[in-house]
Amino acid sequence: MSAPILPGSAIGVLGSGQLGRMFAIAARRMGYRVHTLSPDEDTPTGQVSDVEIQACYDDLDAVRDFARRVAVVTYEFENVPLATAEAAAECAPVRPAGRVLHTTQQRLREKTFLAAAGLPVAPFRAVRSLAELETALGEIGVPAVLKSADFGYDGKGQFKVDAAGQAAEAWQAVGRREAVLEGFIRFEKEVSVVAARGMDGSFAHYGVIENEHARHILDVSVAPARVSPRVANDAVEMARTVLEKLDVRGVLCVEFFLAAGGRLVINELAPRPHNSGHLTFDACLTSQFEQQLRAVCGLPLGSTEQLRPAAMANLLGDLWQDGEPDWAAAAAIPEVKLHLYGKLAPRPGRKMGHLTALAADIATAEQRVRAARSALARRPG
Ligand code: AMP
Repeated sequence: MSAPILPGSAIGVLGSGQLGRMFAIAARRMGYRVHTLSPDEDTPTGQVSDVEIQACYDDLDAVRDFARRVAVVTYEFENVPLATAEAAAECAPVRPAGRVLHTTQQRLREKTFLAAAGLPVAPFRAVRSLAELETALGEIGVPAVLKSADFGYDGKGQFKVDAAGQAAEAWQAVGRREAVLEGFIRFEKEVSVVAARGMDGSFAHYGVIENEHARHILDVSVAPARVSPRVANDAVEMARTVLEKLDVRGVLCVEFFLAAGGRLVINELAPRPHNSGHLTFDACLTSQFEQQLRAVCGLPLGSTEQLRPAAMANLLGDLWQDGEPDWAAAAAIPEVKLHLYGKLAPRPGRKMGHLTALAADIATAEQRVRAARSALARRPG
């Protein structure tokens, strides 16, 4: 095994959003330098990095030049093109490897991988035309969900099909391009497991996190999840299988539906820290971001021990519709931590920040974080 990449070294991050920002904060705290590359400038990651490169992901010369100046390259969102990861890999190790990106950035490949690994997924069919959609609807039945195969996240490019007669409408809604039709899962809750795998094959996880979505976007997470020990164990073991079979060196999140009778179905994978793991920043000995750093640098993984029950609430751009939120009101609850991502334009639906609350139990943590978010929306007197 190669020698670990030690503090003082520079780490390259492809992508420049809030995940890269929190990674950079963790890395700089441990004395690393951070370089980020994305098509934008004055980005959430760039604002807290040593070097911010503005270049398109398909400017492979810029990508190689970026990679030459760092000891390892990682990424903070999975839609970095495979060619970009491969160009970077000519000049520095890329972790997780480009093939992890390749598998997880397209729903069809991801579901095919999961099914082949013997892991539970909703029944699905590949759909490349309206005729194929009609056939697939006959096989899978309704309700079903049609999702574009590429670049779909946070519910974008999705259509719930409640009747076979909606095929044309659904095909139009996903842009008439390659898609996956999957059976609708009547879930009781959605949960996730954030896990890490080190260069030595060691495995660490944060247990099960419980997630509530609003308008297809994560709204509130609480940890530890209110699930049975059997479900928690099954979810963690499935996550372990995913990280081992994909040979991940880094952090990966598995999102699940939990259906009646404790049945777990994997919805999707994210080969990076995940929004549901943001609460680890304040609640765990080692955050998911520090864990990513340790994993990609070949350091031993840190303890994932959770210090107190925690809840996280996302702050979307909608909160700004009547002006700047009342930050002092949120700060008035002393167990609540405010995280803002430095984004300049608060568009509706855009993730601008989050709040984390700690408490003696998860019900109180959740109630605190919701109260703090409601307080933000009130205008100062
Ligand atoms: P996704 O972009 O695949 O994570 O989907 C976003 C959200 O849509 C999920 O978190 C679920 O709330 C819902 N959803 C997606 N696929 C399904 C499904 N097969 N059955 C039920 N709900 C779904």
